Amino acid sequence: MSGGVLVVGGSVGGIRTARALRNEGYVGRVTVVEAESELPYDKPPLSKIPLDGDAHVPLLTAEETRELDIELVMGRTAVELRPQDRQVVLDDGVVLGYDELVIATGAAARPSPWTGPGVHVLRTIADARALRASLRAASRLLVVGAGFIGAEVASLARKQGIEVTIVDPAPIPMARVVGDGLGRHFSQLHRAHGVDTRFGTMVDTIEHGEGGITAQLSDGSCVLVDAVVVGIGAVLNTRWLESSGLALEDGVECDEYGRVAGAENIFAVGDIARWYQPRQGKAARVEHWTNAVEQANCLARNIVAPDTPVAHDPVAYVWSDQYDWKIHLFGTRDVTGDPVVVEQSEPFRLAAIWQAADGRASGGLTVNWPKASVQLRRTIAAGGPAGQVHAQLVDAAAKA
Ligand SMILES: Cc1cc2nc3c(=O)[nH]c(=O)nc-3n(C[C@H](O)[C@H](O)[C@H](O)COP(=O)(O)OP(=O)(O)OC[C@H]3O[C@@H](n4cnc5c(N)ncnc54)[C@H](O)[C@@H]3O)c2cc1C
Repeated sequence: MSGGVLVVGGSVGGIRTARALRNEGYVGRVTVVEAESELPYDKPPLSKIPLDGDAHVPLLTAEETRELDIELVMGRTAVELRPQDRQVVLDDGVVLGYDELVIATGAAARPSPWTGPGVHVLRTIADARALRASLRAASRLLVVGAGFIGAEVASLARKQGIEVTIVDPAPIPMARVVGDGLGRHFSQLHRAHGVDTRFGTMVDTIEHGEGGITAQLSDGSCVLVDAVVVGIGAVLNTRWLESSGLALEDGVECDEYGRVAGAENIFAVGDIARWYQPRQGKAARVEHWTNAVEQANCLARNIVAPDTPVAHDPVAYVWSDQYDWKIHLFGTRDVTGDPVVVEQSEPFRLAAIWQAADGRASGGLTVNWPKASVQLRRTIAAGGPAGQVHAQLVDAAAKA
């Protein structure tokens, strides 16, 4: 094959790029190579859809593939990029040529240090199906790592009445995302839902026995469970690019238009891409869904109209569903500083605003407060003052 846009990686970044190319009027060939054999699916539902539901939420159906004239090469892994020849080599030896290449190979779950029946990571639909099968038969779950995915799985399991223990080496795990004060709220959220939190503790060993799986913790205690989920981060899928000569330090380095540094006709999108962010004055990688979608739209536009490229300068955004909290996070947060917080009980809702040295709102967090989310996101995007949006939210809270 030669010509057209070749997208490597068929998850949200890659599929949204392929779709956006057609929306932008691109009439050339669009091919997506994807290592998994499943039709493309979305990842956030994997940790959110209840255990009796189907976690496979399609990104592209077979019918849409035909309608949009997108060629899907499923179950094939790219093993080498030859930029000088504009070629990608697949694991079956097939060589694909391209006019433009989009790198969208994202990340994989950081491998669990422990293995065996009932021990899981969660990144793919196969992981989700295996975890869900274990949970349906489990009454006790150990979650290793209290980040977003660990917290969401704990929440899912509690909804099924499963006893949950969470272990994390940090004394206040979410402090790394929202600072100490708000981080304590997140720790308390787990406890309020009956989770046994062992924070500031590590798992030393995991052993399978007749009564279940025993985890020996660094504080000398043991936990006996039926299933374990290990949510300790992700590793980037860059191996296939190692001989390409591309700059690969913490992802694929790109300018603000998504063009890969030092390469011609190569773009990168999503978790793997480290785009220059004018708002922050530096390149940064963002491992969140909305970022992948926004970059995909921007890339497609820049491939179709290369002479008038548009920059993507996002206000970072991520959501998470944990127990009865709908959480939204925006922008950049100085976790060593104290945000101003507007909080209400009955029903509980919260908004927190971080401000930059010049008084602009730089970051925000909301819980169960959609209107505050919209206001905060707009204010941060416009570089508006933190004091003003704080006053508006205090006012809204008083009127509620
Ligand atoms: C369980 C879970 C829950 C999440 N929840 C949220 C949430 O609530 N909110 C939020 O903002 N974000 C969430 N995320 C993060 C979000 O899903 C990711 O940011 C997003 O999936 C990134 O998309 P991507 O296309 O860049 O990469 P990925 O989703 O990692 O996809 C990369 C694709 O490339 C394929 N691939 C890899 N290497 C090769 C190769 N060599 N050849 C061919 N194909 C290859 C992979 O099989 C994969 O399909 C969640 C992630 C997970 C795992």
